[in-house]
Amino acid sequence: MGKKITVFGSFVVDLMGRCPHLPVPGETAKGSLFKMGPGGKGFNQAVAAHKAGAEVTMVTKIGNDTLADLAIQTMTGLGMDTKRVFRSEQTETGTALIMVDENTSQNEIAVILGACDTISDEEVESISDLLDQSDYLLIQLETNISSVEKAVEMAYSKGVKIILNTAPVQPVSDSILSRVELITPNEVEAGILTGIQVEGEESAGRAADYFLKKGVRNVLITMGSKGVYIATNERRGLIPAYRVDAVDTTGAGDAFNGGLAAALAEGKDLWEAAKFANALAAISVQRIGTTPAMPERSEIDAFIQ
Ligand code: ADP
Repeated sequence: MGKKITVFGSFVVDLMGRCPHLPVPGETAKGSLFKMGPGGKGFNQAVAAHKAGAEVTMVTKIGNDTLADLAIQTMTGLGMDTKRVFRSEQTETGTALIMVDENTSQNEIAVILGACDTISDEEVESISDLLDQSDYLLIQLETNISSVEKAVEMAYSKGVKIILNTAPVQPVSDSILSRVELITPNEVEAGILTGIQVEGEESAGRAADYFLKKGVRNVLITMGSKGVYIATNERRGLIPAYRVDAVDTTGAGDAFNGGLAAALAEGKDLWEAAKFANALAAISVQRIGTTPAMPERSEIDAFIQ
């Protein structure tokens, strides 16, 4: 029996339009394609871990509108528990408005976090029993920071291991850092949080030292197609990424984090878990989209063979 993971984070609906050119302010440009799909860093990570075979409960908040149905339908379709999805009567379901230039692939994105940015202290308190049964809390910085702080505090006091994915990047207090078992910034986030520009193993090592000094137990700096740099107080090194032809790297970090949590929950050690996460992410970057790009467990196993 694997260990249990609570994923606490965002749900947003991606509304994507492709246009021959990106409209300038005031212009209405005729688009050529529209796609709608579930997304949000928390949701993507929960789906990645669930499809990888982990026992996952997603905690998020949606509105009371038609877009909210997409969260419930997707989770139900995948066999995920929807009992910890809070509802807002006042605030709409989060959305990401994405415009993509079909010639250059350049994009413009506005994220309106909506309901998942309004998780109250009482709502976080209501997951106390869930955290009692959880071994890992996988959390990002995409819901209101007060909810992140509260969830981290509660999880820590219950001995739940906290995996903090520092995306989208914003300041993280020393108090949060001291409670984190694993931190997973990408190179840019690691640079912003530590003040050390990360561009290779040597600088990644220095950034990792910053986090280790703050009390984080395990640092994993994801470095895109280079792989992931891992540092603990005992051991450090780079685990290279799989070489694949990437077509869409959006959500690569989400795939990695979901895979990492799932593998740790299965009892894999940190290094094996990071390899598994690299594999999951490598499959996902060969597919378009975020949530829909997450592979089944059988696909991951076949890829690693
Ligand atoms: P983010 O999406 O948060 O910016 P990264 O770009 O660092 O995160 O990617 C996260 C992980 O996804 C990497 O550590 C790696 O395992 C995998 N990955 C990302 N881009 C590629 C790629 N082009 N080829 C293979 N694996 C990739």
